[in-house]
Amino acid sequence: MKDDISFSFEFFPPRTEVGNEKLKQVRSRLNRLGPKYFSVTYGAGGTTRDNTRDRVLEMNSEGLEVAPHLSFGANDEAFIENLLNIYKDAGIHRLVALRGDLPPELSDRRLVYANELVEFVRAGFGDHFEIAVGCYPEVHPQASGYAEDVRYLKQKLDAGSDYAVTQYFYNADAYARFLDECEYQSIDKPIIPGIMPITNLDNLARFSSMCGAEIPRWLLRSLADFEPGSEDFLRFGEEVVTNLCEQLIELGAESFHFYTMNQYEPTANICANLGLLDQG
Ligand code: FAD
Repeated sequence: MKDDISFSFEFFPPRTEVGNEKLKQVRSRLNRLGPKYFSVTYGAGGTTRDNTRDRVLEMNSEGLEVAPHLSFGANDEAFIENLLNIYKDAGIHRLVALRGDLPPELSDRRLVYANELVEFVRAGFGDHFEIAVGCYPEVHPQASGYAEDVRYLKQKLDAGSDYAVTQYFYNADAYARFLDECEYQSIDKPIIPGIMPITNLDNLARFSSMCGAEIPRWLLRSLADFEPGSEDFLRFGEEVVTNLCEQLIELGAESFHFYTMNQYEPTANICANLGLLDQG
């Protein structure tokens, strides 16, 4: 077992009761793998806002270590302060702070950058929360440049966040180059790779084109050789992602954040392949 490698698991809040019930099972099983924490995503447009809070409080009451994602979205300071107080009073002490994106109907609102949210949390809540922020080894889609995107990452880390979790990627070189740029810009806080298991090619391709993550041509073409969702497809995806994680460990990664897509097997199998689980 690799004792020195920790890992965390991300969920999205399900929209249905059936989804909620399924997630309860999934998180109970994933919790047995010993994650550092679970995080729950947040819809900046308000779509999953209350749902995120409810799932976070539910998981917290089950005794799970949980980190709500948070962004201002279209809300004002009073709303965010109230939500932070609810989390604080419940004993939650982690956050993932983001600018987020707005749905088209709210696109006239000014988005509050993540560094501003981090400053807001630190000003009102001191060191109560351990704060993670997002970062983009393959460059945020709206960034005007690579170095500038990393400068903004430094700004949000300097504003008081503790570490950054990357958008997912399948190219270890992008992570290596990103670490070099971070070092060059004197960033000395942890950059934790975000890992996306491969389960559904259509969804992955659609999501990747929106968030600016690249699926290498060799990988796309190889995945297309398999029947979608078949055992062989899933095993191949797990092998590719396991291999990626091994390369990231070589590059010095000491922690992984898994985008579980609310599923148990893909993430658990990759953790097992990597020897992260105590089989004893
Ligand atoms: P920021 O760091 O604020 O950056 C946004 C863009 O503006 C970048 O192009 C950056 O270069 C630039 N920029 C940054 N600061 C400034 C500034 N001060 N002035 C001018 N330009 C600036 N989305 C959700 O809706 N819900 C989630 O729960 C969620 N979870 C995520 C978790 C992780 C780990 C990651 C990596 C992403 C997540 N996202 C989520 C996606 C994220 O919200 C989007 O990528 C969003 O477009 C950017 O959010 P950010 O916090 O990285 O933005």
